[in-house]
Formats: sequence, C-alpha cells, structure tokens
Amino acid sequence: MVNKILDVKNLEVSFDTYAGEIQSVRGVSFDLYEGETIAIVGESGCGKSVTSKAIMRLNPEPPARIKGGEIIFDGEDLAKKSEREMTKIRGKKISMIFQDPMTSLNPTMTVGKQIVEGLRKHQNISYEEAKKRAIEMLKLVQIPNPEKRFEEYPHQFSGGMRQRAMIAVALVCNPKLLIADEPTTALDVTIQAQILDVMKDLQKKINTSIIMITHDLGVVADIAQRIMVMYGGKIVEKGTVNDIFYNSRHPYTWGLLKSVPRLDIDKEDERLASIEGTPPDLFAPPKGCPFADRCEHAMKICREDMPPIFDIKEGHQSACWLNHPDAPVVEAPINKPHRGIAGEKGGTRD
Ligand code: SF4
Repeated sequence: MVNKILDVKNLEVSFDTYAGEIQSVRGVSFDLYEGETIAIVGESGCGKSVTSKAIMRLNPEPPARIKGGEIIFDGEDLAKKSEREMTKIRGKKISMIFQDPMTSLNPTMTVGKQIVEGLRKHQNISYEEAKKRAIEMLKLVQIPNPEKRFEEYPHQFSGGMRQRAMIAVALVCNPKLLIADEPTTALDVTIQAQILDVMKDLQKKINTSIIMITHDLGVVADIAQRIMVMYGGKIVEKGTVNDIFYNSRHPYTWGLLKSVPRLDIDKEDERLASIEGTPPDLFAPPKGCPFADRCEHAMKICREDMPPIFDIKEGHQSACWLNHPDAPVVEAPINKPHRGIAGEKGGTRD
C-alpha cells in the first residue's frame, strides 16, 4: 500500500499588514502519496504559492501567519515546527525549485560546489564522495559533460541548463517531497518539455513526491496524477487529470481550460480565451463564491452563500452551486450538459 506523506488539513494563512489582514489561504485541504505528483493550478494571487511556501514555512513570519490548520508531513505537523527544526527538514526531506534559478543558485559559487554543500550539510560524507554524487546528479538531469560543468558558474549555463542544475541541487539529498513553483514558466516550450521530461524521469528513479505549482493547466496534463484548482485562497475543484480535463464541474476551471490549446477539439471551435475580470480582494473576501463577480453563470445564492463542496465522484469535488440538484443546466466547454449531482435528483450529466 502506498503511504500518504503529506496531509494538509484546513490550512489558513494570513498576512498582517498596516492596511489590514490579507486572507491569502482560506481553509485548504489536500493530501499527497509517495511517488505521486499533484498540481496546484490557478492565476497569480489565488494562494497557490503561499500554500506551497507554507509547507516549507518559507513565507516570512511575520507578516505571514499560519492562522489555522495542520500540515502533517511524515507524521509531524510542520505548522508547529520552530525555524530551527525546519532548517533540518528543508533541503533534506523537502526541497523547492523556483521559476527563476538565479534566485536560488548562488552566482558566486560553482554549480558543483553548491550541490556538494547541500549534500555535506545533510549527510556525513567526504568531499570526494559528495563530488562523485554531484556529478552523477548532473548526469541524471541530463547536463552534458558534467565533469566540466561541475566547475562552472551559473552564468555559464543556458536558462534550461540552469533549471536542470537547480533540480539537481534540490534532489541530491533524495527528498521525500519536491515543490516546484512555476518551474518552466520562464522557459520556451521546447526547453519546458525537456525540463518536464527530466522531472518525470527523476521521479521514477528516486520516487520523490512532487507538488507542481503553475498557472498553466496545459503544463500539468502529462506530469500530474491529480489537480487542485485554486481561486480566492480556496480549492474550488479537485480531481484526477481526467476529471479536470474531461469532466470539470466548475466555471473557473472551464475558464482555465479555455486558455489551453487542445488537439481533440475541431479547429473551428478552437478559440483561446482569457478569464475576464480580476481576482477578489483578499483583504475583505466575499461571503459567497469568490468567483461570482467573474462568473457568467452566477446566481443569487452564489453571492449570498459560500458554495459547499459537492462530491462528484470519489476523489472529484467541486465547490460550485451549479452542482446542486436544483441548479439550472449549464453547457460546459466540453459540450456536455451539467446539472445536479450524479445519482441525485436532476443528475443528467454524462
Ligand atoms: Fe459561478 Fe456560482 Fe459556481 Fe461560483 S458558485 S462558480 S458564481 S455558478
């Protein structure tokens, strides 16, 4: 049986500013199993990066504050750990890679030395042994001529190679969890595909669980097993890749899907669209659905009451009133009518 390595329960993260409290993450729950990849998807400001940084306790505290909830990793609640305890976990058990490798690679140190330092900090091994492992790691992330590259500085690497070097630094200690925050956003599509291939390949070889944070649903189709869609500090839909791509039950997800080019749709119908409007003000979040101001299907109840989480099927959930049995029928982008909850009154879907 596959072990659950992460269980985030009802996580709430706020930032205390002079202007007031920003409620960036508002009751987020999800889990992650050994060797699994999940994606957290949403526009900027939806709370996805704050959620992922909260797991590593990398949001600056203060002004950030974990207001409630639990982050159970490997049986322990990270939300209760001190900074000192977290330094023993970061880099060893949980690693993170970012959009811009130059922010996490030290420009004044050779790439090889940075990998060796990470290894020696967490493992009691000699420099020679660490160097051997570092070169193996550079090979594993497909950096050509790794012995020579070991001695070079980050500025001597191309953008794609820097990203691969950062993955090598992050994974050299075989962490149980890798958090990848928009790892391919700054790269062109060819390099993006190469980096995703490297990550998939590494995951198979070292069985690391991955949380992929991205604004681009298209990036995750091939790498993640499950997707969480975030909006206004909440998870508004979650399910398997198939649930989200072919049977989504939330208008915000439909908006994200419309911005992804698809090969299975007639060319005539293939129009890429952005979602009109802006995300809600998290200083004073709306009492109803956070997407109501931008949703073409918004009803009176949407502005008055927060939509509950509707179970579509095991593992697939949506927080949208359209899933209520009495809701009107709405045509989803995949051109199937959606109404009610499967098996209940009005359940005419599929
Ligand atoms: Fe739109 Fe209402 Fe569903 Fe929110 S609850 S996404 S406003 S239909």
